[in-house]
Amino acid sequence: MLKEQDLGNWRKTHGLSEINPAIGDQQVVIMGWVSAVRDHGNIQFIILRDITGEAQITAKKSEVGEQLFAMIKEVKEHSSIAVKGKIRPQERAPNGAEVIPSELAVFSIARKAAPFVTQGKTSTVGIDTRLDLRAVDLRRSYLQCVFRIRQTLLNSIREFMSRQQFIEVSTPKMIATATEGGAALFPIFYYNREAFLAQSPQLYKEQLTMAFENVFEIGPIFRAEPSRTNRHLSEATSIDIEKAFADYNDVMSILERLIVNIVDSIKDRNKPDLAFMELSMPALELPFPKYTYSDLIDKLQEAGEKIQWGDDISPQALKSLSDQRMNGFYFIVDWPTSAKPFYVKPSAADEKISESFDLMFGPLEMSSGSTRINRKDQLVERMQKQGLKSDSFDYHLRVFDYGMPPHAGFGMGLERLLMALTKLDNIRDATFYPRDIDRLAP
Ligand code: ATP
Ligand code: MG
Repeated sequence: MLKEQDLGNWRKTHGLSEINPAIGDQQVVIMGWVSAVRDHGNIQFIILRDITGEAQITAKKSEVGEQLFAMIKEVKEHSSIAVKGKIRPQERAPNGAEVIPSELAVFSIARKAAPFVTQGKTSTVGIDTRLDLRAVDLRRSYLQCVFRIRQTLLNSIREFMSRQQFIEVSTPKMIATATEGGAALFPIFYYNREAFLAQSPQLYKEQLTMAFENVFEIGPIFRAEPSRTNRHLSEATSIDIEKAFADYNDVMSILERLIVNIVDSIKDRNKPDLAFMELSMPALELPFPKYTYSDLIDKLQEAGEKIQWGDDISPQALKSLSDQRMNGFYFIVDWPTSAKPFYVKPSAADEKISESFDLMFGPLEMSSGSTRINRKDQLVERMQKQGLKSDSFDYHLRVFDYGMPPHAGFGMGLERLLMALTKLDNIRDATFYPRDIDRLAP
């Protein structure tokens, strides 16, 4: 019978990806979870996983002795174990080495077989079964690749924005009034008052351009999305930037270079993940194609879509166009002012059109951005036109009396971008614990 034990004095000497023949004769201690066991009668194989990779443990009865062999035979997939042993070259094992065990510590025995396998590229069970056991699901090779790519994405954003002299900020997530109108907010209790979870850092990041010029934030946004889609989460991560003394063309240029930087970093740092996923990054050319909103509406009407100037453009409608350049990244620019939030600056030449853009990847929206209004009277006027009470924005409007610089910025969904780059069907797989209208646990 296997017995579970405490960690005690056991400590790793090596990550599993470091197990290779060059280690020679020294004793190693490795730890991880069992991703596969193979029973060949008098030989047992265990594939162990840790955050660095995989290693093979090979136990021959004649080599390790009856007692240890009997223990190893009982180890089940998903158990959490440690092994002390020596390395032997083995061509067919990961990194060309296998570990011959001399001691086994079992920290936690897996008591149930998982309802899905962790090794393959695809899962045979539905997403809800997986999400109910998400931490186990996240042990799957494919998702491990996705989240290592997410790590590169986040690091490369921070590197790039810091190089461009942007300061990373954090803005309140518990707020008194809506940023973009009343819909889609989650109300909360704040002491004895009603408050809301922030749907975007919009107004705060704009204010911060007064003090820091260039700011960015990577943080949660909360939206009570009523519909069940594969591209909306109730809690998502937004990559927000705001830049002083810039307009929407300037920030589009930053955004496209940011995307190129991210894609290059993934190509460079995630080679094994891309190979496992059989995934290639999109080929990018600067500048990204730009389509004006009005031209697209004409094209969509020609393609037989029932769409009017002023309407939002749905992914469904975009699929009816057969423009090759629309398979990758492209911008839709100059949206109707009426379709955009109050802080978006109308064009000086034509008030009906705004200095705004969406970055798209195929039919999927990645980001929205614009030149912002930096004059108080104009902002108040736009609020009123959109039926918002300017009184409740007093905390915001007040700082416009102190030299708000012209500024522009964008917000981009981290999970949307990750989903697009890793070709996931469902945005829920691009986040650790998705929240949607039906799911508040785990
Ligand atoms: P959509 O039209 O796709 O619902 P939106 O125009 O309402 O998005 P914005 O307010 O422009 O969204 O937010 C900026 C970006 O944040 C979006 O382009 C998208 O990438 C991301 N985003 C917005 N809402 C969600 C959500 N519910 N889940 C995941 N990402 C989101
Ligand atoms: Mg948008």
